Amino acid sequence: MRAVVVERLGPPDVMELRDVPVPTPGPGEVRIEVEAVGINFADVLAVAGEYLTRTRVPYTPGMEFAGIVESLGEGVPAGGVGGVRVGQRVAALGGSGALAKYAVVRASGIIPVPESLSGPQAAAFPVSYFTAYHGLKTLGRGESGEWVWVQAAAGALGTASIQLARALGMKVAATASTEEKLQIARDLGADVTLLQDDPERVQKLRDAAGGQGIPLILEVVGGSRFQESLDVAAHRGRIIVIGNASREGATLRPFELMKRNLTVTGLWVTSLMGDVEATREAAQALAGLVGSGQVTPQVGPVYPLADSARAFQDLLDRKTTGKVIIEP
Ligand code: NDP
Repeated sequence: MRAVVVERLGPPDVMELRDVPVPTPGPGEVRIEVEAVGINFADVLAVAGEYLTRTRVPYTPGMEFAGIVESLGEGVPAGGVGGVRVGQRVAALGGSGALAKYAVVRASGIIPVPESLSGPQAAAFPVSYFTAYHGLKTLGRGESGEWVWVQAAAGALGTASIQLARALGMKVAATASTEEKLQIARDLGADVTLLQDDPERVQKLRDAAGGQGIPLILEVVGGSRFQESLDVAAHRGRIIVIGNASREGATLRPFELMKRNLTVTGLWVTSLMGDVEATREAAQALAGLVGSGQVTPQVGPVYPLADSARAFQDLLDRKTTGKVIIEP
């Protein structure tokens, strides 16, 4: 089968298309015929060797995808409660391996999706929407009527966060790098939108929430911008550190948190997936909101497998909105 293979870590053009054997599902694993792969900023970082976990080469990138269950490994219950049916469309989260015709994941990495979702929509769902839910609710403890600041607002996580925040009754201040991206944020219901380089952005963001500052911030840019999150946060504000798209270091002086009783919390969706209670609660809430059409995964540009390197480079160059999808 055709698959993308990375032999050495680096920029997106290290990815090559190769013929490789079809993977065999081991005990507890499931083989899926891949329909669509959701590309995350994390995939770009993993290929570059800059992710939270070490990338071992050679490997096939792609951690989030949707497809049709094709065969079950030993010990995977077929059908019934918690079981997986051959022929069922599912979304899946694995460490890697999805940029191929077939991928194998642990059965625990399978996420049932409403039948109303297309393959690309299902592939755009798990990472962004679970992360948004955990940022807004599980860790962020956001309440209806509260303000949240969503950064990189037209991206995959940004669009998910705006939709979900609005569905939860929250008010959204959104920032992004271009006017076109801000229009996307407004179309999804953002209440206040600002260019991320607006010279008065800190004051304008504080003013958005009645001059009090913003109580919940989903921090994804990091680097020298991290200080702005501290400056914009309201008294007892919660800053959820989700990403570092700038790929720069940042300095946090704990002392600065004291005056306004701020909280800074890290969020990694992969490790939260291991928290059974938090995952069940998020899955239930999200299934209801997707099922009722209150949130719809935002599919961005779709690329063929042969253009994987271009897809990764476009994501890195901030040219994309919504979830970047690759179809094998
Ligand atoms: P996006 O679709 O949001 O694309 C990344 C966006 O980041 C760009 O479009 C750009 O938006 C913004 N950005 C800001 N500064 C830079 C920069 N210097 N270089 C490149 N992009 C920049 O990607 P994702 O939704 O996959 O991820 C968004 C962020 O959330 C990333 O930091 C990612 O690592 C993180 N994330 C973390 C998770 C976790 O579990 N902790 C899970 C999911 C995502 P703009 O042009 O508007 O600035």
